[in-house]
Amino acid sequence: MPACSFGLQPVVIERGDHLGGAQRSNFHPNLWMLGYPEETGEQMTQRLAAHYRELPVTTHYRAEVTRVAPAARGFLLTLSGAEGIRALEADAIVLATGTRPRATAALEQFAATCPRAIIGPLSNTIRDGIRDTDVLILGGGDNALDHALFLAERGNRAVVCTRAAFSARRPFIAACQARGEIDLRAHCPLPGLTCGDARVMACWPEGERAFDWLLVMYGYLPNTDVLDGFDPAIRPALHRQRLSAGGCLATQQRPRHLRRPATSPIHRSRRWRRRWPRASLPPARRSEICVRHKSFTQPSYHAMHRSRSVRRACPPAFS
Ligand SMILES: Cc1cc2nc3c(=O)[nH]c(=O)nc-3n(C[C@H](O)[C@H](O)[C@H](O)COP(=O)(O)OP(=O)(O)OC[C@H]3O[C@@H](n4cnc5c(N)ncnc54)[C@H](O)[C@@H]3O)c2cc1C
Repeated sequence: MPACSFGLQPVVIERGDHLGGAQRSNFHPNLWMLGYPEETGEQMTQRLAAHYRELPVTTHYRAEVTRVAPAARGFLLTLSGAEGIRALEADAIVLATGTRPRATAALEQFAATCPRAIIGPLSNTIRDGIRDTDVLILGGGDNALDHALFLAERGNRAVVCTRAAFSARRPFIAACQARGEIDLRAHCPLPGLTCGDARVMACWPEGERAFDWLLVMYGYLPNTDVLDGFDPAIRPALHRQRLSAGGCLATQQRPRHLRRPATSPIHRSRRWRRRWPRASLPPARRSEICVRHKSFTQPSYHAMHRSRSVRRACPPAFS
């Protein structure tokens, strides 16, 4: 929405037929949402979507960008979808394609043929259909433990199996440890899996056990498939979020290749320059957030959630 306030004319291209992205089907309360504690993702999405519809933003639903080529003005996009194939010129492109649940190729293949296996959160079956059952949850992060608690509160028993130590926030770990229905297994190898009629058989070296449901909570991957359509000369590079030594995440720090003065079409726009004459631009600030993990796929999300538990001393300087 800042684009509207800068006098730009935003055009939104959405692959789906609705607004809201991932949070649209998040039935969990977002406990950390400032000013809206207890509001679920679904409720938050409805509130944001109602506001969005009042804004002067052109939105193409069920549309995808199939090609992006350099053009005199900036970029020439080819869109394909419900409205047919069309061309669109743009001065700047903002990629906000979000993330999708992550799994190994083998688990994705297993889930595609086994109705008792679910990859990622936000499933209506998890919300309404899993009651008084035995559930195997693979993964050791916030999502895995949040779901173990959610299911335990609904009469289920959960085994949570993670290949290393649990990486979820400490309150989640403590809450799971306090519940007899939840069995937390760190350093737990991925079992061999077989799909039966109404059960999933999990086979570890020490023995086999049947579960009613298998949930895979391996975090998220960014949706970067849109980059395939970019002309190689202008295809943005993919970077992992950089962590400096000591488990500290440097935020608001421009990567080396971007340290020259900003020259994107937005920065060149007359209105932007009037608002931020170059001489008045503040120097890029460095802020530091300590994190416990070496890498993650959603830096802002994880950093936000972890910042509370990790306000320990950061090393004084970044490399
Ligand atoms: C249970 C749960 C709880 C969460 N809690 C929090 C929280 O408390 N705080 C937080 O910050 N985050 C939280 N998250 C993560 C949160 O979902 C994301 O931060 C948020 O949805 C990101 O919004 P987004 O618009 O960047 O991406 P998304 O919500 O993923 O939206 C991306 C949109 O892009 C569209 N799209 C994808 N590819 C294309 C394409 N090629 N062409 C056109 N359109 C495309 C998709 O259809 C989708 O509508 C949570 C996630 C879950 C699952």
